[in-house]
Amino acid sequence: MKRSISHQLQSYRPLFRDHRLSLRRFLTRLSKNPPRGLDARLRSLEPAVWKKVDCLSCANCCRTMTPTYTNTDQRRIARYLGMTVGAFQKKYLRQERGGDRDWLNRSTPCPFLNLSDNKCRIYSVRPADCAGFPHLKKRFADYGHVHHQNIDLCPATFELVRRLQDSLSA
Ligand code: SF4
Ligand code: SF4
Repeated sequence: MKRSISHQLQSYRPLFRDHRLSLRRFLTRLSKNPPRGLDARLRSLEPAVWKKVDCLSCANCCRTMTPTYTNTDQRRIARYLGMTVGAFQKKYLRQERGGDRDWLNRSTPCPFLNLSDNKCRIYSVRPADCAGFPHLKKRFADYGHVHHQNIDLCPATFELVRRLQDSLSA
């Protein structure tokens, strides 16, 4: 197997280690007492994040997490792969036993990740969850807890939250 490409992720590991606790505390404070205009501020900071972060040099989400596959996702992807939904579920997915009984990847890394170039093999039909990730444009009230979880997993989330912290303390 070719060596995996995750240069960018490696460069973030020391930053995650050094800053995750303080950034999580910052996010907790923010969720209890969000300043006026928070969502607009996040949207204004987001473009600079993508000038710094390159997902094709990372792919940590596809390597370590699983998307949730809605029924619509499953039908679309199964059709793309020329499979029935049942065969698609059997080959690639597992259903949670409790909770919302979500459909998740059966294995990690995601079976659709090409480990040699970090590209998604089903990119044009990928789950909506993947298309929206890491949810930087979403309302903080809805996705602040997701940023809290991903602060030491996703360089883009880390960059956004760090920039937010800097901009609010300026
Ligand atoms: S969304 Fe985050 S974890 Fe996923 S590849 Fe991009 S930077 Fe990495
Ligand atoms: S479906 Fe594609 S984008 Fe989604 S986790 Fe798998 S490889 Fe990544």
